[in-house]
Amino acid sequence: QLRLRFALALVTGAGSGIGRAVGVRLAAEGATVAACDLDGAAARETVRLLGGPGSHEGAPRGAHAAFQADVSEAGAVSRLVDQVQACFSRPPSVVVSCAGITRDEFLLHMSEDDWDKVIAVNLKGIFLVTQAAAQALVSSGCPGSIINISSIVGKVGNVGQTNYAASKAGVVGLTQTAARELGRHGIRCNSVLPGFIKTPMTQKVPQKVTGMIPLGHMGDPEDVADVVAFLASEDSGYITGASVEVTGGLFM
Ligand code: NAD
Repeated sequence: QLRLRFALALVTGAGSGIGRAVGVRLAAEGATVAACDLDGAAARETVRLLGGPGSHEGAPRGAHAAFQADVSEAGAVSRLVDQVQACFSRPPSVVVSCAGITRDEFLLHMSEDDWDKVIAVNLKGIFLVTQAAAQALVSSGCPGSIINISSIVGKVGNVGQTNYAASKAGVVGLTQTAARELGRHGIRCNSVLPGFIKTPMTQKVPQKVTGMIPLGHMGDPEDVADVVAFLASEDSGYITGASVEVTGGLFM
């Protein structure tokens, strides 16, 4: 059992894939989960899987709760952190940003809109969530662990993903800088860089990619959730500013 029992964990993108697996794993370790997604029904379904009431309105004390928010909108993120604090009477001590999108196109043909949308959700969204959560933690004097989901694509690039690769490389720089600034407040910040993980986002990834992966298969969302849970817990208490790759050995 990880040292996570009294944590309150805010997970964005919790309605699907990696975010849902993170919610399930953190709850299994004894944390209370605030599951947020753009798709409120999907977040409520995650909370239902955790055995919670499905909505933050009227959630009994200590129960998991669902929240709807668009992480790319500053007002929505600020309301989200306020709602979580009001619901649980404390700021989240663990924050996991899993919300992310792709809009793939070759550089030569990529529209400004495809660029802007991916940067808005994947990079600005993580800035807004990290900032709002850190402000709440610092003003209440609480320590915390912030985990931002980047991608191995941010490190090595990927054809058709200039927007996505730029956003994910940005997440690593943002997280390292946050780690430097927030360490003195007892707030740790780490990034996780998954490789190819089986989720709705990778449905169109061709089977042949498995030939490039030393472990010979794509990862499961739970493989990422295991690492996130460790980084969330006090068992990783001296790790901050790290970028942990969960890739089955792809691109060593
Ligand atoms: P997914 O599509 O299954 O889940 C993403 C979730 O984010 C969805 O529930 C979606 O509704 C939510 N979301 C999208 N835009 C949002 C917004 N503006 N505000 C709030 N929520 C929003 O994808 P996934 O594969 O689970 O990806 C999770 C994270 O992991 C993403 O950041 C992704 O870039 C990253 N990642 C995934 C892989 C992979 O192979 N699946 C690899 C590397 C990194």
